[in-house]
Amino acid sequence: MSIISGSDCFSKATFDCGEGICVLIDADGRLVAGSGPMSQESWEHPPCKSLFRLHDRCSDEHCLIRRAFASGVPVENTIIRPEEDPMTLRVLPFYDRQGRTTLVLLQIGPAARQGHGDYIERCAEKAFDSLPQTVFETDLQGRITYANRHSLEKFEYTETDLATGIQIRDVVCESERDRLQQLFSLALKSDKAISAEFRAKARSGTTFYALVYAIALKEGDRVTGLRGMLMDISRQKATEKALRDSEQRYQHAAYYDPLTQLPNRVLFMKRLEQSLERAAARRLPLAVLILDLDRFKRINASLGNECGDQVLILISRRLELLVRRHDTLARLNGDEFALVYADTAEANTVDLLARRLYDAFAEPLLIARHTVYLTACIGITVWQKDAANGETLLRQAAIALNEAKTRQDKYYAVFDQEMQTRRETTFLLEKQIREALQQNCFYLHYQPQIDLTSGIVIGIEALARWNGPEGRQIPPDVFIRVAEETGQIHALGAFVLQEACAQNLRWQQQGLPPIRVSVNISAGQFSQRDFVDNVLQTLDDTGLDPQWLELEITESVVMDNIQAAITTMLKLKDMGICFSLDDFGTGHSSLNYLRQLPLAKLKIDRSFIQDIPGNRDNEKLVFSILTLARSFNLQTVAEGIETRDQMEFLQQLECDIIQGYLVSKPVPAEAIPALLRESNG
Ligand code: C2E
Ligand code: MG
Ligand code: MG
Repeated sequence: MSIISGSDCFSKATFDCGEGICVLIDADGRLVAGSGPMSQESWEHPPCKSLFRLHDRCSDEHCLIRRAFASGVPVENTIIRPEEDPMTLRVLPFYDRQGRTTLVLLQIGPAARQGHGDYIERCAEKAFDSLPQTVFETDLQGRITYANRHSLEKFEYTETDLATGIQIRDVVCESERDRLQQLFSLALKSDKAISAEFRAKARSGTTFYALVYAIALKEGDRVTGLRGMLMDISRQKATEKALRDSEQRYQHAAYYDPLTQLPNRVLFMKRLEQSLERAAARRLPLAVLILDLDRFKRINASLGNECGDQVLILISRRLELLVRRHDTLARLNGDEFALVYADTAEANTVDLLARRLYDAFAEPLLIARHTVYLTACIGITVWQKDAANGETLLRQAAIALNEAKTRQDKYYAVFDQEMQTRRETTFLLEKQIREALQQNCFYLHYQPQIDLTSGIVIGIEALARWNGPEGRQIPPDVFIRVAEETGQIHALGAFVLQEACAQNLRWQQQGLPPIRVSVNISAGQFSQRDFVDNVLQTLDDTGLDPQWLELEITESVVMDNIQAAITTMLKLKDMGICFSLDDFGTGHSSLNYLRQLPLAKLKIDRSFIQDIPGNRDNEKLVFSILTLARSFNLQTVAEGIETRDQMEFLQQLECDIIQGYLVSKPVPAEAIPALLRESNG
């Protein structure tokens, strides 16, 4: 600390002539205010010499100031130097809100003189008066004996009021008086300054927050009263409050979902990590669940986003009722909720929990006069004692959720290692499919469909094929699923459509009897906004007449939004394209929607054909499907015919068309002309 860096740092004119000096010095060593004999002629005056010795870090004066700053208590020393009058130095510290010494009042005066104490005090008063803070002194009874100019202004008192007597308790609110009394009693007994915040009150009743420091005043060893300093901290308080409020708002926005007021993903992850630590310490299992609403997009699309929001809010409230206080229920995003459930015992607890959550959807929601039926899928993982972290657990629950979504039998799935392996395979396949698409590694095989009455090939199904990177065939069920999950089905589907149309035209150009080529369409493809345009564009590009194209869709493709599906189908039907319903019987068949769809054919799934004749149940089922189809004027195609018995059985039931290994396995395009010529005799 360099106390005064040169005589220029303060103006000599600020000091009166006299025998002592009083200056205020801040923590950076700057002179803040001062009074005393500092006229041009008084440079040789002993107190001034003392002041200038502050330049010297080793001087007694400098040491004294450093001590006061470091200790925060008043220090006093008499300095005797050869050929100089003894000087007394007193340093009184002042503090900021944190109790740090920010200012010291340095009083320097000749030690031996009579009445020097009074003189010093007068000098101090002058220095105090120039302070922008409130400085006051009281006697032992708490009567204010001195108040600097700023004090009087701040509290709206005059010198006369002061002379008539103001008690220190008069400058704080009534409710604060006891506390102020305690502070003063403490300060009287202490060597250090004691501080506390109060609600101060001016004469007119105006109140403000004040920070009060009090330190005992002594004459020798005798305590004579208190010196106090009071700072108006209303503005800091207001700023602090504003900061606290905005901090709270920020915290809320950072940790809570604004729609449902549930914790968001960030808070969920924090709580999950904490729960995990507790579970590890107590060696108790813990479950993480992710719940995803089925077809929530459809609600948004058909009833509007506002209703969608209401659904999420109502579901949140229902779920909240089902979880315990110490569990964390959060909205991860969109229609996904997550739950940390601590102290989960065995697997059956998890089953029960899944059931309970699922039951939250049993009752329909009533929103703006709409009755909304909802279901959900739940992915669960149970942490036992392995060293997984929160992220891993959430990922496992998400994998289980994915699994649950593909399940027909159950609405929930509990994570296991097999799922993880499948997931890894999916990741690998996703990458390989992307590369295969870039390198044109997909190709088509074609399987003929025979008219059972005439025995003629009347159609051909195009089926995608892929020899994976190691040259082994990857089943379409596998790569189609991954392509659907990863959105790559758009590119793959476009290739299949393009290639099938182009190939069909090539056969026609070779002079073969024209037949329909049927192309399988996935849900993701069908629901694309530009699906109709893409199909028409492909027909345009390839030059195939629309009447020779058939699109195979499954129930799941149309179920999501039946009205939109009908619109799409009608547009294409108007162009001459026909539709068949693939894998019929495996989905949630509903006669009602079947009636509405502009279909041409029903394809009975292979699983019902497999063990007929013989399996009475399937026989009956196939019979009723055929009857139903006829009543709706639909043609029927039986898939997976492998035996003559199967064919004859279906012939008796008047099924229209068959497709299966009995006629031909799916074959490359080159093998089709021979099959066509043969069937046409
Ligand atoms: P799908 O549309 O039901 O196709 C019929 C499946 O049954 C084909 O399997 C076919 O090879 C098989 N199959 C036909 N006759 C018989 C038989 O007599 N016995 C047996 N065991 N199987 C028979 P594949 O080619 O493995 O295709 C499986 C599924 O993959 C298809 O079922 C279809 O859902 C999907 N798929 C294939 N290609 C495409 C495509 O280009 N796009 C889309 N979206 N899906 C495709
Ligand atoms: Mg098919
Ligand atoms: Mg099928």
